[in-house]
Amino acid sequence: MNSAASQSVRTDGKAFAARMTTRLGKEVAEAVAKTGHVPGLAVVLVGEDPASQVYVRAKHRATVTAGMQSFEHRLPSDASEASLLNLISNLNADPAVSGVLVQLLLPSHLDSTVVIGAIDPAKDVDGFHVINAGRLATGQDALVPCTPLGCLMLLQDHLGDLSGLHAVVVSRSNIVGKPMAQLLLGANCTVTLAHSRSRDLPSICQTADILVAAVGRPEMILGDWIKPGATVIDVGINRVPQGDVTRLVGDVAFDETTHVAAITPVPGGVGPMTIACLLQNTLTAFRRQHGATA
Ligand code: NDP
Repeated sequence: MNSAASQSVRTDGKAFAARMTTRLGKEVAEAVAKTGHVPGLAVVLVGEDPASQVYVRAKHRATVTAGMQSFEHRLPSDASEASLLNLISNLNADPAVSGVLVQLLLPSHLDSTVVIGAIDPAKDVDGFHVINAGRLATGQDALVPCTPLGCLMLLQDHLGDLSGLHAVVVSRSNIVGKPMAQLLLGANCTVTLAHSRSRDLPSICQTADILVAAVGRPEMILGDWIKPGATVIDVGINRVPQGDVTRLVGDVAFDETTHVAAITPVPGGVGPMTIACLLQNTLTAFRRQHGATA
């Protein structure tokens, strides 16, 4: 963690994720030596959404850096559901592929529930399959969604034991809010989930020792919604115009948070952790498939 110009601490997700990737690289090398196989991550991109292309490139780079194989599959934006399901079925059956990830959002003619449901739960490194969601919700071993997993790691790194803390998660999405709540419950927090129908969101946020914002609205959460000394995780990634260019901002009005204990910046906070956790999930899936222990 780095000290910021302000009184609060900026939780440096980039540095944490870099340390994690170095550690994972060593663990991958050990796993290869032990099993004679190399972990592999297959990423499927449908269409040409620019943001998705950036994410897929970043995932490819990180996978290769960690010493794993990276398989990229690109389908045109008008690809049929049958062709996508056929590709997933082939990846499920391919022993060189430890993890399968379909980059979301999908074009509107494709049903993401059907597509995610087609991934072998043992290779579901995004942790979105209903089997993994159910395992997480019932406290069983699961492949856990990467973004909330990264948030939990940052929180535990900063706060240590989270027992008894009140965590407010502003989101009830399947990819961030709900799994985040499950992880925080598992870490013995008292958890409140807030969403677009919650009444008096500022008052709810003011009760939080830990505030996780994953709304997708630029700087919606203002400084006076957050109690002094709280720890803030800003998951939101919002592109806002600035002159002729755009810049990235989170869901929290960062400049108003000098009174908090720590906050993740955007960019450089949660985003890098998401990719590091994807690598960790791929290694976990590989180990389970090969009966290898850590
Ligand atoms: P969703 O749109 O699926 O979910 C947004 C959530 O915010 C919903 O639960 C919604 O409530 C709630 N919400 C919307 N408006 C309000 C409001 N005015 N007040 C309170 N709650 C509100 O988004 P995602 O979960 O996919 O992503 C959320 C953000 O996180 C985005 O900015 C996304 O880019 C970012 N993200 C970042 C990642 C990273 O690696 N850093 C990874 C994944 C996402 P309701 O359910 O009632 O509609």
